[in-house]
Amino acid sequence: MAKIYLRRNEEHRIKNGHLWAFSNEVFKLEGEAESGDMVDIYDSRENYIGTGFYNKNSLITFRLLSRKPVKDLGAFIISSIQKAYELRKAFYPGRNSYRLVFSESDFLPGLIVDKYNDTCVLQVCSVGMERNIELIVKALKEVTGAVNIFSRNEHFFRKTEGLPEEDRIYAGAVRSEIISDGAVKYKINFEKGHKTGFYFDQGDNRTFIEKISNGKTVLDAFCNSGGFGLHATLAGATDVLFLDSSASEIQNAMDNFILNDLNAKVEYVVADVFDHFEKLISENRKFDVVMTDPPAFAKNKKSLPVAKKGYEKLNRLALKLVNDGGFLVTSSCSHHLLRGDFLDIINVAAYKAEKKVQLVHFNFAALDHPQLPAMEETVYLKFAVLRAGEG
Ligand code: SAH
Repeated sequence: MAKIYLRRNEEHRIKNGHLWAFSNEVFKLEGEAESGDMVDIYDSRENYIGTGFYNKNSLITFRLLSRKPVKDLGAFIISSIQKAYELRKAFYPGRNSYRLVFSESDFLPGLIVDKYNDTCVLQVCSVGMERNIELIVKALKEVTGAVNIFSRNEHFFRKTEGLPEEDRIYAGAVRSEIISDGAVKYKINFEKGHKTGFYFDQGDNRTFIEKISNGKTVLDAFCNSGGFGLHATLAGATDVLFLDSSASEIQNAMDNFILNDLNAKVEYVVADVFDHFEKLISENRKFDVVMTDPPAFAKNKKSLPVAKKGYEKLNRLALKLVNDGGFLVTSSCSHHLLRGDFLDIINVAAYKAEKKVQLVHFNFAALDHPQLPAMEETVYLKFAVLRAGEG
């Protein structure tokens, strides 16, 4: 197996739990290796650090799989998927759908697997994983009994790894599934060209809002398949407004509401959230619970200042729609926006909206999205629940 040697003093991050080595940290490659091959990595004093995937075309030259030599990659993948599966089964007994593998966080760098009953949907974004896809498919069948296995790739990350933009069926067929997150059922459509669109990361947070929804009026903005509003209704919300700019997602929310046989006064609105919030404010509408879960405004570090303004405006408008003593339920999935930044933004928004706020709950992504404490890259979702008051 070829060997990578790091430059002097470049081993600390990876020794402390991070999984990547960047191209500028690599001193030399000894032996022959193609992108996607396994290589061993050493520090400058020739101490072995671990084994992982090599990619000569990416800034991330090395992604660590294990701190011990990997003799049989197939067996390693099976055991890693098994460990990931055990964690989910322990956290969500009786549930068949969740994020089964969360890439680096499950020590399978560049591989995401979302499990919907016996369908596994993959996002493959490292050359090493792509090259070993057959081992992965075999492992998923063996460990979970998966029947349908196909990819729905996030193409941005494939590009940076030098992978072609394509989705493939590896086993079975692409067909819709009805899943449940314990309490609520969702119909998931996977047809070609249609992103899976189901966000497991908010799973535990959707359950949390049941605590504040009984007998309340609720606004679910950026509702997608309706998860937050559906949980609120299940918990006894009397009025729910579902708001999303995508007509097909609103249709989804509508279908899911019927699927769950729920009962409440419901409004479905296809509109831009900012525009519609302004409209609701001008009409003097208020809600007991206002939830916003936008897509990432900051796609990279450069766009962070503009994104911060966006979050501030969104939260300011949202706060204006909250009844005295009601709740703002606000999320950000911008990785570059840290917890402290997000709370600072909420403070400014509250000042501008003339509200006083109490943070009653804060969380990250659900338990099926573990984080690596050494890898800030594995943290992205922030979820804050604030009680908002006047005076
Ligand atoms: N809350 C959802 C996930 C939200 S994903 C859940 O729990 O599953 C983000 C959603 O925001 C997508 O459905 C997308 O269609 C919608 N969206 C993006 N930009 C928007 C905008 N400007 N106005 C309204 N909806 C928007």
